[in-house]
Amino acid sequence: MPLLEIRNLTKIYPQGESVLGGNSRGRSEVRAVDDVSLDIHAGETLGLVGESGSGKSTLGRLTLRLIEPTTGSIRFEGRDLLSAPRGEMRRLRRDMQIIFQDPFASLDPRFRVEDIIAEPLIIHGSTTAEGAPSSPGFAKGGITNPGRRARVVELLRAVGLDESILQRFPHEFSGGQRQRIGIARALALRPKFIVADEPVSALDVSVGAQIVNLLAQLQRDFGLTYLFISHSMPVVRYLSTRIAVMYRGQIVEMGSTEQIAERPQHPYTRSLLEATPEVAI
Ligand code: ADP
Ligand code: MG
Repeated sequence: MPLLEIRNLTKIYPQGESVLGGNSRGRSEVRAVDDVSLDIHAGETLGLVGESGSGKSTLGRLTLRLIEPTTGSIRFEGRDLLSAPRGEMRRLRRDMQIIFQDPFASLDPRFRVEDIIAEPLIIHGSTTAEGAPSSPGFAKGGITNPGRRARVVELLRAVGLDESILQRFPHEFSGGQRQRIGIARALALRPKFIVADEPVSALDVSVGAQIVNLLAQLQRDFGLTYLFISHSMPVVRYLSTRIAVMYRGQIVEMGSTEQIAERPQHPYTRSLLEATPEVAI
């Protein structure tokens, strides 16, 4: 059984996002995701590649039910995500996390590193180093709660940082360090599945390469499954087991990384391969 089964997923926005603002004449329906079906298997990285505006982020968000589809179905470990009641959805949310492109926008600037990483633990009431549900009241211990602090330090070390930064704020860090903090936060609840939406697109190539290597290491250490989104074929190739190519809301080609890179069938896939020189990452 695949970890995730996506069937005929469609997301239609009644009015497309327009750079001209909201005064375009008539209705311009946008099929941001158009009848997409795919499986994601436990332990793999499915790379999702396509040009800007092709629907990658919309598909990533739909997969986690951060937005609701117009039609279609999503199963996570065989359970129908879209009909999951509140309580079950809350439990499922622990297993599914997202890493964003811009770690500065996704980290609250008013919070210290310790609070940022501990927040999911507090919300979900999981404060022990093992991630087991705590006894009632344990979560009220504030940021100095020893079990939670130990878990935050463990997470920092997992992403190549250490406890010396616990009391610092996001603006004090470089883009790469902020992305590491965002990753530590995403790992806090021991998720099974992570959507990484252009996690290195805002970073320098060398810093991006370090983050990609970190994601690969974390996958091995924690048995993670990724949906890895990027507009860059070389980045997707480096990390992915399989690659899905997205064009205008549809998956136009999907196959093993080798198959997509060496024997692309679709003209759009070929153009993506040609557009991106083989940079070493
Ligand atoms: P990508 O991540 O590949 O750049 P997106 O999923 O962000 O693509 O966008 C796909 C299409 O859907 C684009 O045409 C975009 O303008 C449109 N879109 C995305 N989000 C919204 C929204 N909230 N409202 C209206 N249109 C949207
Ligand atoms: Mg996007």
